[in-house]
Order: sequence, then C-alpha cells, then structure tokens
Amino acid sequence: MSICPPPSAKPTAEQRVIAPSSRAGHLWSVQAVMDLYDLPLADLLDQARSAHQQHFQANAVQLSSLLSIKTGGCPEDCGYCPQSARFDTGVATEAMLPLATVVQAAQAAKDAGASRFCMGAAWRSPKPHQLEAVADCVRAVKALGLETCVTLGMLRDGQAERLREAGLDYYNHNLDTSPEYYGEVITTRTYDDRLDTLGRVRDAGIHVCCGGIVGMGETRRDRAGLIAQLANLAPPPDSVPINHLIAVPGTPLADVPTLDPLEFVRTIAIARITMPRAVVRLSAGREAMDEATQALCFYAGANSIFYGDTLLTRGNPQLEADRALFSRLGLHASAGDPHLASAPTTI
Ligand code: SF4
Repeated sequence: MSICPPPSAKPTAEQRVIAPSSRAGHLWSVQAVMDLYDLPLADLLDQARSAHQQHFQANAVQLSSLLSIKTGGCPEDCGYCPQSARFDTGVATEAMLPLATVVQAAQAAKDAGASRFCMGAAWRSPKPHQLEAVADCVRAVKALGLETCVTLGMLRDGQAERLREAGLDYYNHNLDTSPEYYGEVITTRTYDDRLDTLGRVRDAGIHVCCGGIVGMGETRRDRAGLIAQLANLAPPPDSVPINHLIAVPGTPLADVPTLDPLEFVRTIAIARITMPRAVVRLSAGREAMDEATQALCFYAGANSIFYGDTLLTRGNPQLEADRALFSRLGLHASAGDPHLASAPTTI
C-alpha cells in the first residue's frame, strides 16, 4: 500500500500521522509516546523486553556491515553529516567504488560474520547510470548470500522498481527527527520528500528501513514525534535504525550538548514497544557508548548492530571488542534476518 497521496491532495507530514484511512491498526499520538518516555525506566524496559520476546529470539542480534560506496561531496545540507559539500569537515569527495571493490568488501564482511550488507552513497538522488551501477552491486552482493540494503537519497519514478528487480531487500531512508525540528537540521529536502521516497520503496515491494537520529539538540517531545511518525507509517518500517549523533567538527551540530545515555536507551525501548515487529538497529554512535549502555539497549530490544569495518578483515579492535561484549552478555549473532527463526551462530 502506498503512503504517497496523489499530488493534487498532498497532506502534510502531521496529517499523514493522524489520517484515519492511513492504516487499520493502532495509531500512536505524540502524547502517548511521551507517556512512555515518562515511565520509570525499569517499567519501560519491562514493557520493551516483553514486546521483544513476543516477536524475536531473545538474545539474537543481527550483524550488519555498512560500506560507503560513494563518499563525500553531497549537495544536501543535513546538519549532522560530514559528507555534505557545504561543511568543512575534511571529508574528500570520491568517485563511486568499482564493483569488484564492493564485492570484496561484502565478502570480507560475510567472512567476519555479517549477514547483512548495507551500501550508502552521498547523493541527493541517484542519476540513472548511478542507479544501474548500484543495481549491479546489489546483484553481486546478493549472490554472496547476504541480505542487501542501500541508501542513495531520494528516489524518482521507476528507480525503486529497478532496485527491486536487482533483488534489493531493504532501502534505507530516515525521517531523522520530528516534523517540527526537521527544519532546524535540514533545509534542502522536506519531510514530505522523505515520505514520498518511502512510499515509492514500499510500492515497489522493498522492505522499508527508516529511523532517525537522536542527540541533535532536539527535545524529548521531538524524539516522541519522530517515533510517532515512524510507528504510524502504513505499515510501520520493517527496520528502524536508531542513531546517536556523532558530533563531527565542522558540521553545524558539532557543539550540541551530549544526550543522557539513559534517554537513548529509552528511545530504543520505545521504538521496540511501538514497532514490535521491526528490527531495531543500534546504529551510529555506538563507539562512544560504554558497554553498560549498550547492554541496556540490547535488553530494551535492539537486535541489530553495525559490525566492524568491512575493509579490514583482521585485527580490527572493534570486531574483537564486539565479540568480547557478546560473550559477556550471552548474545549470539542471528544467521540472517531476525524476522526469520534462524539458527544462532557464534561470532
Ligand atoms: S543526503 Fe546523506 S550524504 Fe547527503 S548530506 Fe544528507 S546525510 Fe549526508
């Protein structure tokens, strides 16, 4: 089902949330999500754990790998992003990686234990020849037996269908934050632009991966607004990355105050409660989190992480740290999409 309306009757993002015809199930108001935020932490975690155990193996975590296939020089102005050409962050503009390099990285990620391979490109929207090059990457990575996800910016007519024909499993396009705070972070594309791309992805039969970033200076109500937007998509996303801002020098958000780690844990828990069937991905910012915070995130329902650097196959301290953490927490890697009852694997 589409979440895109006809152009002549385009509703605002807020109207999309409350539109009674948008879905048959429960709609989350921002206040209802705020009420979850206001629960005692232990009560919130209890609810999240219960929701998690109804739909997923309790201690299975999917290992994903992320490769930038086209880095830097992006014309957009996302205030958190070091790849924007508008900010002086020291990130060089590079050409798209050759197919062989992408395949090599995907194989290395698989060998290191990943079951999902994500490819990101710093584009406003892919041009036709760029999309075909990505489609080639998707076919090749799929042939290795990996789940595929790409994030390429806004999609135009027919582009999602081309990716689906190539075998793409998930398309990532985040809403980032609440509709109210969005304009403080990005001005070069609108919230509705993002919803339109999500509709194209859904209409093409590709799983939607859609989440946001917290710690960008937004209020708790903005975080609740983001969660309500995500949970009220029709249907909700299959995959929800929750990112913690990495404050990069040179970006407009370089100096925002650091978010309370327990507020981040609450956001993970609320994503799990409001979107119980989604894979909740503990994404950017994990490197700066202590292990106790990560452990709480897993307890709260996070069941996917980005794992290691796909260009480094051995001796990567992050891989070793994650293996040690999983061992200490009694977690295991799921052998594939956690929606499936996959056999556990060690990492
Ligand atoms: S569109 Fe993507 S790559 Fe471009 S500035 Fe925004 S987040 Fe960065």
